[in-house]
Amino acid sequence: MEDRKHTDAEPTTLRFAEIYQSPEWMTLDPISRAQLMLVAEGLKPGTMIHGNFTSFERIVKQMNLEMSLNTDPYVLEPAFTVATAKAMSEWLRQEIMMGEKPSRAECHRSNGELLGYPKCCTEEYIRPMKNIAERKQYSPKKLISNFEFELEQMLSRGESYPEELDFCPPPFTPCSATCPEARQVLRRWKHILEIADPIAAQELREFNWRRDARAFVHKTELEKKYEERHAEYLRHRFRSHIENIASCE
Ligand SMILES: [Zn+2]
Repeated sequence: MEDRKHTDAEPTTLRFAEIYQSPEWMTLDPISRAQLMLVAEGLKPGTMIHGNFTSFERIVKQMNLEMSLNTDPYVLEPAFTVATAKAMSEWLRQEIMMGEKPSRAECHRSNGELLGYPKCCTEEYIRPMKNIAERKQYSPKKLISNFEFELEQMLSRGESYPEELDFCPPPFTPCSATCPEARQVLRRWKHILEIADPIAAQELREFNWRRDARAFVHKTELEKKYEERHAEYLRHRFRSHIENIASCE
């Protein structure tokens, strides 16, 4: 499977549009859907996500992707590495080359490459360097990432932040809130996610809002979402209750 060209040019056709419309697709967790889709659409070499042994495996096969189980085979929520054949064989080759006791840096570099993260972001994650003195002064008890530090500075100055930063997959922390490479990658990811699965795109956005100081900016939207979910939960409980009563009569 070929990677899509790495430009900001908008891809208009989806490789697996039918799958994204299927009821089986909707059985998967939205944030896992978002990450899987980026690999299937050729925008990311691989991903590490939760799946299952039924619908998830079928979908991955239909997408012609490779998968490898990362957790105990008996856990209820198994986690997998899913990647293009090329990326998977390179990742496995690096695992073998690293031997039994790989360094933390080697693991992060190999995973960062598989997950399609810019090198500058992986290196900052391995060895925090940017604004390090300011970050320690700002948050002495817990070293926060430079990304979080810069984002908080932006928001405290009343500035807006680049919208594409709301499309970071859960394990990704850019090296900076203004990293041009991260922003370019995230803009491509945002674009295709919004076309292919708007529900998953919105879930990913809200996941990012809850991560840090963005929660203050999006407080009203998050509260509204919580109320909607709670109302849906109560409706579900009420329906089950009525069905139980009916079945007892
Ligand atoms: Zn970066």
